[in-house]
Parts: sequence; C-alpha cells; structure tokens
Amino acid sequence: MAKTRFAMPVAGWVTARLGATSGDWDLAIIDSADGRVVAGSASRGATEVASGLATQGSNLVVQACRRSGSASTANLTTVPTAVDTSHVQKVQLVRVSTPTLARKNELQRLGLDLTEHGGPGFVEAVLYGAADATRLVDNNFAYTVAVPDMAVQARKERAADIKFAAAYPNTELPSGRNIYRRLFDYSEDMKRLAREHPDLVRPITLNNQTYEGRSVEGIEIATSPNARDGRPVFLQMGAHHAREWPSAEHAMEWAYELVLGYRHGDARVRDLVSTTRTIVVPVVNVDGFNVSREAGELFQHAAGHATDADGDGEISDPEFILAGATSPNEYRRKNCRLLGDPPLGDCLAGVDTGLVGHGVDPNRNYGAFWGGAGSSGIAPTQTYRGPAPFSEPESQNVRELISARQVTTLITNHTFSNLVLRPPGIAAQGATVDEPIYKALGDSMAAKNGYSSQFGYQLYDTDGTTEDWSYNATGGLGFTFEIGKLGFHPPFEEVVKEWNGTTAAANGGGGNREAYYLAQQNTADASKHSVLAGRAPANAILRLTKTFDMPTSVEGLTFSDTLNTTMQVGSDGRYEWHVNPSTRPLIAKGSSGREATGDPSPPQQFASNGPGSTVPCADFENPPEGCYEDHLITVPSGAGIDNAKATFRIEFTPASDWDMKIYKADADGNATGDPVASSGNGATNGATAFEQATVLDPVGSYVVRVINWAAVDPWTGTVTFAGPDPFQAPEETWTLSCETPEGVTRSARQVFVARGERRSLDLRGDCRVRR
Ligand SMILES: [Zn+2]
Repeated sequence: MAKTRFAMPVAGWVTARLGATSGDWDLAIIDSADGRVVAGSASRGATEVASGLATQGSNLVVQACRRSGSASTANLTTVPTAVDTSHVQKVQLVRVSTPTLARKNELQRLGLDLTEHGGPGFVEAVLYGAADATRLVDNNFAYTVAVPDMAVQARKERAADIKFAAAYPNTELPSGRNIYRRLFDYSEDMKRLAREHPDLVRPITLNNQTYEGRSVEGIEIATSPNARDGRPVFLQMGAHHAREWPSAEHAMEWAYELVLGYRHGDARVRDLVSTTRTIVVPVVNVDGFNVSREAGELFQHAAGHATDADGDGEISDPEFILAGATSPNEYRRKNCRLLGDPPLGDCLAGVDTGLVGHGVDPNRNYGAFWGGAGSSGIAPTQTYRGPAPFSEPESQNVRELISARQVTTLITNHTFSNLVLRPPGIAAQGATVDEPIYKALGDSMAAKNGYSSQFGYQLYDTDGTTEDWSYNATGGLGFTFEIGKLGFHPPFEEVVKEWNGTTAAANGGGGNREAYYLAQQNTADASKHSVLAGRAPANAILRLTKTFDMPTSVEGLTFSDTLNTTMQVGSDGRYEWHVNPSTRPLIAKGSSGREATGDPSPPQQFASNGPGSTVPCADFENPPEGCYEDHLITVPSGAGIDNAKATFRIEFTPASDWDMKIYKADADGNATGDPVASSGNGATNGATAFEQATVLDPVGSYVVRVINWAAVDPWTGTVTFAGPDPFQAPEETWTLSCETPEGVTRSARQVFVARGERRSLDLRGDCRVRR
C-alpha cells in the first residue's frame, strides 16, 4: 500500500487517477479528520478513477493498494475541482398535466428533463430554474409542484437512510445491505462474489472504457461459470441513467439472490443456476452514477453529525453547504460526454452552469429506430440521443455483450413509475410479432411487483432504447422496469420494500424478487426461444453468426449489426444450444396468411326477383330507388368454420348490364355506410357476363345491391366462401460453423429455427453436416 497526503485547496470535487502496468490496484481517498471515505475506486485491473466531494481545508490521504500482480509502481494524480457554494441552483420536481398521448409527446419535444414517472394524464419533470418553468407555461402546459426543492428533500432522505441503517444492521435484501452502495461498493461486491464463489461466479469487464476512463463491470453466474456451454442467458442491468440508484441495487441483489440461494440449497435457485446463465451489469453508466451518488453521499455523511437544530432550514455545517451547492449533480441522468469533437468526457464540467448542458442519454443511443421524435437531437437536453447510433461507450458495451451471447431474456432496470414496459417504444410501430408471449410475461411479472404492464410508448414515445434494439436485433425478450413511485432514489427503505414486495402496490405479490424469478424462468423455458441439438465432434467450437442492416428513424440511415456467438460441444460429442429464433422480429413482421381454424362454408345462391322488378337507370354512383334490388347474405360462423373470404358473383347474359355493390347490413338487414366492395363493368361480349367482388375476413350480414344499368333479362347470384391463404413467414437463417479441436473449420451451413422449435442437427467428426 502507498499513501500520499493532499490538502483540499477548495470546497468541491477531488479526483484521483491511478495507472499501473499490470495487476489489480484499488484506490481510496480518506478524510484524515474522521476516517470518511471521500472517494474510492475498486475495479478489477490497474486503472482506477476515484472522485468525490470534500470541504475546503480537508486533510486527505490518498492511498493506493496493490491487491495482486507484480507491478511495483503506479502513476497517481490528484486534482481538485471547485464548486461555487455561493450560488445554489434550485431544482424542482413538477407534475405536468398531459391529458392525451399526443400532449405527452409534445411535452417530450420541449426538451425538458422528463422523468420516467408518468401515468394517465401526467408526466413528472425536473425544472432547473425559471426558464424551464416559462417554457411549460408558454406551451400551455399546466403543472403542480411535487417537490419544491430537491436538495431539501435529498437532505431529509439521506438523513432517513442513516437512521434506517442504524435501526436495521441487516435488511431482508439477499446481501443484507442497508444503505445505498457507492460505485466502489459495486466493484467490491462483484469481486468478493467472484473470489468467494469461483464455482458459481465469473467476473466480466465490458469492452469499452467510459469517457472518464472507468471500466464497466459485471459478473456471470452459473454452475461451471467458465464453460462455454449452450445454456440460455438472462441479462440484468441497472443505472443506464445516473440518478436511478435503486435500479443498480436490485440488479446487484439479484446476483446475491442466486449465489447465496444456491449455497443455501434453495431448490428453485439451484435449478435456475444450473440450467441458465445470468449476467448482471449493475451500473451501465458508471461515470454518471458516480457523480450522482457522491453528491448524495455528502448529505448522507453530514446527516450523521450535523442537524438543523432550530428547524429553520439553514444549516451552517460546511458539508451541508457544499452538498447543497452540488445537489443538482444528484439528478444527473446522462453520461458525461462533453459536447464537441473529439468526444471527451468530464462529469464535473458544467457543475455551476446547469446540468442539462452536456452528456448523452445512453437509453436513446441504441441503434434501432434511433433519431426519431422519441429522443432529442439537441445536445443540451436530457434525452439527447448522441451524434450517431451507438456513439457512446455505455450503449456500445451492452450491444457488444448481447451480440456475443444468446440472451433470451433481459431486464434493464430504471426508476421510477411502477411500470413493466415492453416494445414497441414508438406507438406507430404497432404490436410486435411476439406480443402474446411478451404480454403474458410482462403481465405475470407485474402481478408480482404491482406495476403496470404496458407498451413502452404508453409512457411517451421513445426511440433508441435498450430493448427496442435488443429485441429487434436478436429476438430475445427485453423489458424495462421502472422501479417504485417515490423518486429517482427515495429513502433506502423503499429499495427493500420494492425488492420483497411489501409496498402497497405489490400487495404481497413478492415484489421484484419474484418478478425476476419469472424472467429467469422464462429464460430457461425452451418453448419461449429455440434450441439446436445433436451430435458433433467432441469439444468442437460451434459458432452462430448473422449480419444484417437495421433501420433507424432517420430516412436513409441504417446501421450494420453482427451477432457472433459460440459454444463448445461436450466431451461426449453431444450439444444442446439454447438460441434466439433465426428470423428477426422485424423480418417476421412481413409474414402473410394464417393457419385455418376450420372449414369454409358451402356456397349460397341468391336470385333476381324477376324481369321487370327494376328499371334501367344507367347510374352506378347513386341509383334511384326502383333501379336496384337488395339481397341479405349472412356469413356463417361458429366452431369449425373459418370463412376468411366471401366472394360475391352475379351472372347474366351479355344482352344485359347489371352492376353490384356490397354493404354491411344493419340490425334490420338494411344496407348501411359506404360499400365495402363493388363491381361495375360495362357491357360484355361472350356467353356469360358477370360482376364479382371479394370481402376479406367477412363478419355478420351483408347486403348485395344489384343495380340495373341497362338490363333486359334476369341474373343469378352466388356467394362462395374460402379459407385463409396459407401462413407464410419470411425466413431468416443463422450461419452455423464448426471448428474441430484440430482446427478444421467448416462453415456456411444455413440453419432455420423457429421460436419454440427444437431442431436436431448432427455434425460428422470432421464437422461436416451429417445427411
Ligand atoms: Zn431511466
């Protein structure tokens, strides 16, 4: 361990960076006066960034710890960043009235900081000053103030957290945690789980470092965690949005639930941990989360020693003053990208100039449908989508993770609004092809946590979101959870209640703990994804790949995606690979026809009332009464009957010219509304003349109106019924390749597998397909 001292020259942020050539190093900044951890960084590896808040004159000890490895020296820099404590920006939470979905989308286009808290008739927004309030009023939006001063609320909530932690040394959370984790707590928890349970936990580091130079970390949980077998993958994520602390807590607790449940012999957990793989990435947006969490941390610490004794709201403690001044940081949503080129990042830039100024919303930066009306193209707004699809390390990390694994189910956790959201994020897209199974799973999870199960767009239109990309690119089912209804990071007690289902909304349903079990069981359920299985050379590597273009919301702009996943055949020469369907949902949406549910009915005849019953009028558009006859036809329905089409036809001699219109019949059997089909040809040469029109998916009764244009003899009529066109789905394939342990690679076998299908495919000893 190496230590160095640092006297804080200003009130504000202190950031220490450490870089070594190898090994695992950790970094901490300690206040020597009271031992408080001012900042810490505990990621795996030799690069650490620790950033936190300290008052002016604090005597800080910066300590670097080598946990493993042989590098004997490391570079360390420590930099202070002043916070202007004389100027305090007041942040408010308001509830904006939005009676219609259209008004919700109008509100979203104002560029204000909308929360994910909305419901019938309202969306809540964060206002950063008078200009934001004016924008609401100028656009005729009525609002009420929900939280008049977020800093005052934060102070109270963190004081409540101190009391709660003192009262409950161990909570009902699987880890027993009783207070919000800081970023380094997540790193330490994941390291500890991997160290103490190497037979169940494998640490992973995502591919791209963030703008501030941090690693994004996760763990993979399964029996034989390091094997490359073909079990289906469940992905749990939190904190795409910096301020949404409970979303990271619940993702992390799910890891504890599985690992400790397995250790304790819980039968349900043991089954899931041995039949699936679980990847937990608790904090996707680590830069943003750290600045938000550390801003709250100072209130939490100060609450332990300073109080507002006279209750006038004024507290002279320097930690409270600094925490109040930097409190808007607590409500950071986006990542820390600075505007401009090259893309650099600094979460502390703009602390005194308003928080909406820089950063990209990682949950508007995914590629599918990127760039539409459900995000902002203007940089200083809270839903800024970034300059290009997947321009940000946070979304690119998740994309690369999912593209390299067969993730059959995922949950991306957010706060707050008590919602279980499923695609589509844009109303105009309509329901997905998997809506029945998607809705069933969403509804069943919502029954556990008491949230509303709904489409993403029902909050407001969104594009470039996690599951709109992941589902449409892979076919794996993805959900957004909006946890809780009390705020972005309410008192920690709420985290426990949302977990175990002791909120009023959950009503004993079991909370997110039980909802996550359903998602994990869905991951394991082969009827909800696809399976390839058979024999192959022992220990060969099988690879499934697919490359395709995906649409954005920008005319003419697409992006290329490649899925590339592998598994290793067992030493017994057998394999079973749980995969997503080969046809992507957007392609499957182009399917036609359907399966018949019965037989079409026999034809029905109808006939002219006889010569002279009408007079010729030569008027097809508005024939006067007396010029036409009406005939009522009822389409048979019921069990065993499937009349997908009704074709109406009248025939007559070429000497006559009859025309025909088909109307829906009203309750009295009379024509109503505009014609649903018609046929009005001119006089015909030949043995027989006719008019014919087809009604698709006919229901109920119809009136056939036969019009006498210029007829001299009667007609005969028939209605024939037909079943549906056969179901035809466009098929997309996986490209399967096989590499023997000797290094022989065979590729270009195209494999189609539908959702719910188990396909057998045997490969010879040299990896050729056995026919
Ligand atoms: Zn969010």
